[in-house]
Amino acid sequence: LIQLYMPLNFMGMVYRQIKQAVIDIDDMFAILARNPEIRDAPDARPLVIDQAAVAFEDVHFAYRADRPILRGISFSVPAGKTVALVGPSGAGKSTISRLLFRFYEPQSGRIRIDGQDIAQTQQKSLRSAIGMVPQDTVLFNDTIGYNIRYGRWDATEAEIREAARLAQIDSFIESLPEGYDTQVGERGLKLSGGEKQRVAIARTILKSPPILILDEATSALDSFTEKEIQDALDRVSRDRTTLVIAHRLSTVVGADEIIVLDKGEIVERGTHMDLLESGGVYAAMWNRQREIDEATRTLLRAQEEE
Ligand code: ADP
Ligand code: MG
Repeated sequence: LIQLYMPLNFMGMVYRQIKQAVIDIDDMFAILARNPEIRDAPDARPLVIDQAAVAFEDVHFAYRADRPILRGISFSVPAGKTVALVGPSGAGKSTISRLLFRFYEPQSGRIRIDGQDIAQTQQKSLRSAIGMVPQDTVLFNDTIGYNIRYGRWDATEAEIREAARLAQIDSFIESLPEGYDTQVGERGLKLSGGEKQRVAIARTILKSPPILILDEATSALDSFTEKEIQDALDRVSRDRTTLVIAHRLSTVVGADEIIVLDKGEIVERGTHMDLLESGGVYAAMWNRQREIDEATRTLLRAQEEE
């Protein structure tokens, strides 16, 4: 574990070893992504979850002092509601999720969960309250069952199967000759991006955290898989406080609030209908996406007819 303290540019080299050595996946993400300077304050307290309401209050953040990334971000995700972050690549969406997980800390402003400033809480308690379904899931070189069980070690076989079912990965797993005992990862069966993401969803369903961060799949997934993943994500986020980073606008229509981010600032916010009516950036993005979807469908139809 000495290697964990090596400078960041050695991280690529030791990545494999870390993957083998680190037992807790949240710790693994933490090690790979966080600024090592983030430590618990001596008087840090465990986060106490009551309603699981999240609030960003005038958050400013920069990875490097000369380049501000978030410039005064304020929003809240009321208990059990879903807030979607949309906006161009590089706008700062993933940075917001990293701050909520406390991989980094704001230069100014606060992030609160149920009124508690997360900077004053113990990181372990914070991370156990948040489930993250990242865009690129890293699987352990172990069985697919192990990879799901990771969400909660004391889960029963029946609970694992139920989580897999809710994540719509159960029939895939059962179609494999070795089922849940199938080896996956680098030395086992290679899963597609969509399959890996559904494993991560199953794991998160098993963990059953009060707060969820979903970083959605991109259009790299085919639309069938995407629909299945969307259904699974809808299930897991129901009645949980959810922050969803949306790449496809079709998936944010039902969000309680949509926040449009550009260059580190909130440029629009409201429900889908509000934003369409106001005819701004979001409405333009929506119309453009519809054109792309339509063109894609036409193309696919033409290919099918050939
Ligand atoms: P989004 O998720 O909206 O595409 P990100 O939050 O990932 O955007 O990134 C916002 C900006 O911060 C981008 O310009 C990106 O290049 C920069 N950035 C992201 N991560 C780092 C990092 N670890 N160090 C320096 N700059 C970063
Ligand atoms: Mg991102």
